[in-house]
Amino acid sequence: KEPTDINKLADEYLRLAYHGLRAKDKLFNAELVTHFTENLPEVNIISQDVGRVLLNLFNNAFYATQHKKANAGADYKPTIELSTTLDGKNIRITVKDNGMGIPDAIRDKIMQPFFTTKPTGEGTGLGLSLSYDIIVKGHGGNIEIESKEGEFTEFIISLPLAK
Ligand code: ADP
Ligand code: MG
Repeated sequence: KEPTDINKLADEYLRLAYHGLRAKDKLFNAELVTHFTENLPEVNIISQDVGRVLLNLFNNAFYATQHKKANAGADYKPTIELSTTLDGKNIRITVKDNGMGIPDAIRDKIMQPFFTTKPTGEGTGLGLSLSYDIIVKGHGGNIEIESKEGEFTEFIISLPLAK
């Protein structure tokens, strides 16, 4: 683990995810909104691991908006919001999308390994269970989820600051 600038890491992976998606689907566009709290203390993390978590969250968020777009009206504007904040002794990273949302019926299952609603070949269902291992077991952090079906999904990652 090494002291890491979370704003820099998150911004880097957001752009990586967006460019990766645009390379596959040239017509896809989304508005990226970032709210970075300045001068956050560094967090002691394995940056590649936390980067993988963020990449999966961003990919999930883009996917959710891409699929909503397929059925939504012309005025639908895919938006992904990334925020970082200091919350007591934790740094919070929030990833919010205005995509299809998570139905209540599957809410309890999405963190399970191999659970996916994506067609074969598009999802392994391992992203969130791996994220749980990395954030909770690997870094003593936490993952919270807020969602409303058809409207939005928000993942909130908390990482404890070094003592
Ligand atoms: P995968 O992306 O391979 O399906 P994940 O573990 O990353 O696996 O996600 C599991 C499931 O959780 C997804 O298939 C989807 O049903 C749901 N999910 C995750 N993120 C979102 C999101 N941002 N919006 C809507 N559903 C989501
Ligand atoms: Mg995923």
